[in-house]
Amino acid sequence: MDVDAGHGAALGRALPTAPLTQRLRSFLSFQGNDDDPVTTLTRTHRAIHPSADAGVLRRSYAVAENMHRGQFRKSGDPYITHPLAVAQICAELGMDTTTLVAALLHDTVEDTSYTLETLHGDFGPEVTHLVDGVTKFDKAFYGKAAEAETIRKMIIAAGKDVRVLIIKLADRLHNMRTLDARSPASRARIATATLDVLVPLCDRLGIQALKRDLDDVVLYHLEPDSYQRIDEHVRNRPGWDEYLAAVSGQARTALRRQRVSAEVRVRPRHYYSIWKDTVAGGHAVPFDLPRIAVIVDGPETDCYAALGAIHGQWRPVAGRFKDFIASPKNNLYRSLHTTVTGPEGRLVEVLIRTVSMHRCAEYGVATGYRYPKADTESLPGTDQLTWLKRVLDWEQDTTDAGQFLASLRCDLAEGQITVFAKGRMIELPSGSTPVDLAYELSPDKGDQTLAATINGRLAPLSSQLHDGDVVEIFTETDGPVQVEPGAAPRGPRKEWLGFVKSTQAQMQINRYFSEENAPGISIADKVRLGRATIGLTLRKHDRGLASEVPLRRLAEELGYPDLETMLVAVTERNLEPDQVVEQLIALVDHPD
Ligand code: MN
Repeated sequence: MDVDAGHGAALGRALPTAPLTQRLRSFLSFQGNDDDPVTTLTRTHRAIHPSADAGVLRRSYAVAENMHRGQFRKSGDPYITHPLAVAQICAELGMDTTTLVAALLHDTVEDTSYTLETLHGDFGPEVTHLVDGVTKFDKAFYGKAAEAETIRKMIIAAGKDVRVLIIKLADRLHNMRTLDARSPASRARIATATLDVLVPLCDRLGIQALKRDLDDVVLYHLEPDSYQRIDEHVRNRPGWDEYLAAVSGQARTALRRQRVSAEVRVRPRHYYSIWKDTVAGGHAVPFDLPRIAVIVDGPETDCYAALGAIHGQWRPVAGRFKDFIASPKNNLYRSLHTTVTGPEGRLVEVLIRTVSMHRCAEYGVATGYRYPKADTESLPGTDQLTWLKRVLDWEQDTTDAGQFLASLRCDLAEGQITVFAKGRMIELPSGSTPVDLAYELSPDKGDQTLAATINGRLAPLSSQLHDGDVVEIFTETDGPVQVEPGAAPRGPRKEWLGFVKSTQAQMQINRYFSEENAPGISIADKVRLGRATIGLTLRKHDRGLASEVPLRRLAEELGYPDLETMLVAVTERNLEPDQVVEQLIALVDHPD
């Protein structure tokens, strides 16, 4: 479990495997009681999903409460307060009833005698999958690998149902909020681990509403002094609210004048974001610009009309305009960002977006759960999960969970650049090269890469790509390309591993070489493969070999100790089959 339970589990309470109704009996006192702990949860859930089934929430709470009874949090609170709080976070995100049920039960299998089988019988396969996805591997069995194996298992489960990750994030958020009872060292350790994988995961899933809270609680534990300073700053800003009210009013007038129907809201920054800007800019005092959001009623094009109205009202600051509608961020975030010189000459940040962009910016992959009936046209859904699917692709190629976690970490930590290839926009980790791009386009394309142009100019394959580059990749099948004279035959080169950046490219290149040197391929196999390759190449020239004599002579002429060694060289692509065949034909046709 994330935060130690009390002695309840260790004392080995005799736990009932009795039917659910029997287990529920002791909780009947809750029914109809005003102090019912599930009331707030149900109310929050029903406010977003009016026809939700509150009965199953009560039922799952009762089971969880019964199973965790006698266990306590470090703070001294009964353990059940934790799953209830996790379910509450999920409810506020707008998740469906199934997620809330699984959230209430998420620690039962890990920390009590409740089994997956019983869970399956009581609540069905969906809830079971979700709970199983967040259940940790036992450290006693997996030792040091437990953490990595647990994350891998969770990612695989999330590939089938992304709600696994949402429960995990809510779980971590509540645990982080209740870390005060722990030592500073263990607080720092848990906060760092959160920052390492879960915060970037949350960012990739686009759930800003959750990420803001996670960011702030991480800052609170890792940089308590900075957190205090920012907190003081935010609480003592004389005239701040009045100023923002005036800015919003003037923005509304400007928008109305341009006939743009939009809502203007004050959009405070969260503490972590203030801290980041303060540190990045080297400011002595917390750096925080007033910020408003303009949420237009109409289509995407209205965002640009709103931008015109805002820029007509206040002079824009050069270099601060960003169009994330034309070029969405890698988590599909879309908005226009600008900074203007507002009233009294003070800088003001303005975000401009449609209603649906606003929903997606706040809830990311959770949007479809919160607004199930909304126009799905611009909902993230599958697109946003492409990244997760790719992670699962390389998961299949990795047997070692530690290596998988390292790749995941690296992939999550990288900044992203956007390049253009084949008329598509492609996201790559910053520092990527044309080889990374080729593997992103397809593994075959990667393996066969010969040359690349960047913005129309031929460039070395190890060149670092930059945001906005237009890149073209040439492979053998793209026609005759003469770039690297004397280059080895096609197939990836080992030296590519020295400069590729993306996990995809690294995995594919390693796969290529490990297949080639796989223990299953013996020298005899390589000899046979080499002979077959030469046979096929000869057939392209409408030729065949009546005897092996010319081949042996060629091997000798090329300096190989014997024919077998030359055939292995062909299989390993150290020797180009076309070159062998050309010389072979010359040898047969013009024997001296
Ligand atoms: Mn938990």
